[in-house]
Amino acid sequence: MKIIFVTGWVLSGIGKGIAAASIGALIAWSGKKVFCQKFDGYLNVDPGTMNPTQHGEVFVTADGAETDLDIGHYERFLDTDMNKYSSFTTGRLYEEIILKERRGDFLGGTVQIVPHLTDLVKEKIRVGFESSGADVSIVEIGGTVGDMENEYLLETARQLRHELGETNVRFVHVALLPYLMASKELKSKPIQHSVRTLMSYGINPDFLIVRADTDIPEDMMSKIASASGIPRSATISAPTLDSIYRVPLAFNEEHFWEKILLKLDLEAPKPDMKNWIELMNNIDNSLDVIRIGMVGKYVNLEDAYYSLNEWLKCAGFHLRHRIKIRFIEAEEVELRWASLLEWLDGICIPGGFGTRGTEGMIQAAEYARINKIPFLWICLGSQIMAIEFARNVLGIADASSEEFTPKWKNNIIHIMEDQKKLDSKWGNMRLWNYTCVIRKWSLAEKVYDSLSIVERHRHRFEFNPKYREQMEKSGFIVSATSPDGTLAEVVELKDHPYMIATQAHPELISRPHCPHPLFVGFVRAMI
Ligand code: GLN
Repeated sequence: MKIIFVTGWVLSGIGKGIAAASIGALIAWSGKKVFCQKFDGYLNVDPGTMNPTQHGEVFVTADGAETDLDIGHYERFLDTDMNKYSSFTTGRLYEEIILKERRGDFLGGTVQIVPHLTDLVKEKIRVGFESSGADVSIVEIGGTVGDMENEYLLETARQLRHELGETNVRFVHVALLPYLMASKELKSKPIQHSVRTLMSYGINPDFLIVRADTDIPEDMMSKIASASGIPRSATISAPTLDSIYRVPLAFNEEHFWEKILLKLDLEAPKPDMKNWIELMNNIDNSLDVIRIGMVGKYVNLEDAYYSLNEWLKCAGFHLRHRIKIRFIEAEEVELRWASLLEWLDGICIPGGFGTRGTEGMIQAAEYARINKIPFLWICLGSQIMAIEFARNVLGIADASSEEFTPKWKNNIIHIMEDQKKLDSKWGNMRLWNYTCVIRKWSLAEKVYDSLSIVERHRHRFEFNPKYREQMEKSGFIVSATSPDGTLAEVVELKDHPYMIATQAHPELISRPHCPHPLFVGFVRAMI
């Protein structure tokens, strides 16, 4: 096994995931197969039941695991599907160990963090590596060095380096170089302390990525290198860039891929960056601005819609336009829709759970339908589109969803049959990749340019087919279904420039240099 551990310091959100993904991308572009894993220290079993406003979006893998949003960075930067071994939490590992203990698997022996938990982490790293057929695994340790909850992960990493040897296990440490406004200077002391902290766990980092909001002068980089005992050539400067997609290119200029591959005793051919450079050219040449309103319920944390934001932006770059997203609290639309919606070129309603804000979404939908404003609906959005149509076009005043109003008579959206019998709320939605069959001559066919597609899903409720005939008579079209024709997968409106909705999550499979057709179609409709 060849493993690169990535650790971080001082605070989260400095771009450890982007750094890990960028290293992975460069290695992948130089012809190696790369797998990525993230271990998080919290006790939730997975992010599936965590509030998006606290933790950001839940990223669903092709094999149906609900994972951390960093897994999305890995997929997008590496252009490779990750899997259920990509994301682990302390809660999930404890759950497995405690179940074994209750089953008597330890034969009455004392069960401990070391060796039982550390061995389990090693097993997960090995399974991830082997399941993906990787040449190199990148293992990101969530949180920051010194967090109590992550200590066992550092201990596992230390043991692995000891067992496998340093040419097989390398460490990259990402640390923040703060800038003090008052004295107008960059301060290197926290980084020095962080390297010392890491050393106190028995880990000497091989590479240090210095993150700062500004450019970092050479004398500061040399000072950090010498004070941390890391060669200057292994100290990589990483100032904040105008786009996260520039990070692999910046690392490439420092020959980071070459340095790290040689340290792992692997050949280091030059990475093929053709697609990525084309993306950069598109970004540089995107001048005209398009304004999209994202009407959602988790808008106070943009990370809650991370993939969607990125793919709308990338679809814009693809057509050489800059997308400006305004996050609109759905509840506020209920109060003052006109001032919030009037200036927009297009509206998007993303996924979500629960009743709050849905009346505002319905109002936004009505506004876009009547005024023929391009509109893209994702998952919950597609359900809202159906409800709005049933209420305002068919006149079914109590049209709603069983999720919001379980006792109402006209629930246009109802719970899926196989979800009815479930009594817990974790890991059992309709997750996974599913094939959808597209109706000929529909907008969906035009946009996808195909009659069969595969999309990732995450939902419990669906369009109630009882209403299909009645709705279709009035211009609502079910334009893609599950192969057996029962589940509505894509719906659209007749006589509207772009009113299309999907029950799936296209943002989960979109890739930077080839954005999802639904997003490209949406941007095209706004130009
Ligand atoms: N709450 C809806 C459902 O469970 C939509 C889910 C979503 O938007 N991901 O079906």
